Amino acid sequence: MAKYKRVLLKLSGESLMGEKQYGIDEKRLSEYAEQIKEIHNLGVEIGIVIGGGNIFRGLSGAQKGFDRVKGDQMGMLATVINSLALSSALGSVGVKSRVLTAVRMEPIGEFYTKWKAIEALENGEIAIFSAGTGNPFFTTDTGSSLRGIEIEADVMLKGTRVDGIYTADPEKDPTATKFATITYDEVYNKGLKVMDLTATAMCKENNLPIIVFDMDTVGNLKKVINGEPIGTLVHN
Ligand code: UDP
Repeated sequence: MAKYKRVLLKLSGESLMGEKQYGIDEKRLSEYAEQIKEIHNLGVEIGIVIGGGNIFRGLSGAQKGFDRVKGDQMGMLATVINSLALSSALGSVGVKSRVLTAVRMEPIGEFYTKWKAIEALENGEIAIFSAGTGNPFFTTDTGSSLRGIEIEADVMLKGTRVDGIYTADPEKDPTATKFATITYDEVYNKGLKVMDLTATAMCKENNLPIIVFDMDTVGNLKKVINGEPIGTLVHN
């Protein structure tokens, strides 16, 4: 039995690159689709937010001289590209999904409302929330917190390439140790980089727990859904 009935899964755009330097790695994309299909088969209702960092980030663009707002809009469009790719990959493995956009752009996707999202979930479709929050100066982590809270998800699953939250960056510091659980306040007080502060504060205020786990190891998503203690749980 799945531990969670409704989840918000956040995937980073950067992870979609796989071994590539830019864009979408088809192998990684189909691994994600297979993992999502596995938990969908358990009857879990799934909302997904996918980032755009594999294509464009507004802040990095601004450092190269792009207008920040236009750069953020480019970043939001990048998340739409990734969302369409994921929706297509899900279709290839026989799972129905619906791309909703935070900015109007029919017929590419339906304009997001909570009610359309809930309708999709209750129909057994996966709802993919694209274009972040629709506003510049936000991130897809904040978009995920927002959508997770709106759809009343039981948990936000933040799939990354690291298997949880560590005392220091494990890719740089070999003595770093992993937290099994941690509170939002500890994340803040220790200055740990889990998500940006806006996203973390929204989860804290609305009591949405977060599980940070390694999504790039095939099979992990199902383990998380079954309540196996992998990754790090962030809670109040
Ligand atoms: N973005 C934005 N508003 C949002 C969400 C995203 O302006 O509500 C832009 C922002 O420029 C960001 C880019 O989209 O850099 C890609 O999103 P993000 O960096 O969160 O993707 P990830 O790091 O998860 O791949």
